[in-house]
Amino acid sequence: MALLEVRDLEVGVAIGGKVLPVVQGISFDVEENQTLGIVGESGCGKSLTSLAIMGLLEGSMLRLTGGSISFNGQDLLALSPRARRAIMGDQMAMIFQEPMTSLNPVYRIGDQIIESLRQHRSMSQRQARARAIELLDLVRIPDPERRVDSYPHQLSGGQRQRVMIAMALACGPKLLIADEPTTALDVTVQKEVLDLMLDLQKRTGTAIILISHDLGVISETCDKVVVMYRGKIVESAKTATLFSNMSHPYTQGLLASIPVVDHDVEWLNAIPGRVPLIDEVLPGCAFHPRCSFAQASCATSPPSADYVSDDHLVRCHFPNDRPSGGEAGGDA
Ligand code: SF4
Repeated sequence: MALLEVRDLEVGVAIGGKVLPVVQGISFDVEENQTLGIVGESGCGKSLTSLAIMGLLEGSMLRLTGGSISFNGQDLLALSPRARRAIMGDQMAMIFQEPMTSLNPVYRIGDQIIESLRQHRSMSQRQARARAIELLDLVRIPDPERRVDSYPHQLSGGQRQRVMIAMALACGPKLLIADEPTTALDVTVQKEVLDLMLDLQKRTGTAIILISHDLGVISETCDKVVVMYRGKIVESAKTATLFSNMSHPYTQGLLASIPVVDHDVEWLNAIPGRVPLIDEVLPGCAFHPRCSFAQASCATSPPSADYVSDDHLVRCHFPNDRPSGGEAGGDA
């Protein structure tokens, strides 16, 4: 049994009396101590999948419309809101993309870490403060005894993201979901934060779901990869398998879009077109308007997700036998 088992997850958004699907039939497992990467462009359903796992859809236009989520042998969707809240922030924690909007600007960072410890660990104020200082030290905030009393605006972007990591790790979660944790940071700080997360994972054994639009980051950090497009998994495999036999044109396009630092080019590669809007009806493959390999059948018949090898799932009519057409991605 995996630590997290997501099966046939469906999320919809309620608009004008209808519920339009935005996450459709997502299934994956995450084992203890494993890092799963979920990759795709903005609007592909990555973050909504993570919010559904964390039970954070309530109170919005979003609805969980189907599927199951099992965590540590418990059916999360069968739990009462109170029982589920007890798990969130304790056994499961999340790091959001932009720390400045996730941290409360009017509370000291130490108090924000202490709140979680007092809530889930019944520590005294003194014990929780000592633990908060330990955590700030763990995430390499310099001078943690002094910094514990800082407000978020007194820290750099990288330090704020480290505080978010400290808060997420405060109760020693079994699963950490990191939603684009480095997007708002400089490239050098991005690497430091990712290295820190993986180093902490080695020490604590925490499983990680890393959500990113950057296939390069995913390749360097994850054991398994799930590629999402328009709310569906279009390719998934162990990282080594995926990168040795990348089979979906969308995944190939994402890889081709990564800039190569020492290549002097006039135009960067990009996948032509855009992710379809949620109310656009596409009866065939949702990627066909952008796919250089699309054939007539792609516009009318949706491809199923099939295994092309033991662990390698691809949703394409022509995963191994692609008709001549073009190259994945294109010039912008
Ligand atoms: Fe491209 Fe057709 Fe495969 Fe869709 S099914 S990814 S349009 S080749």
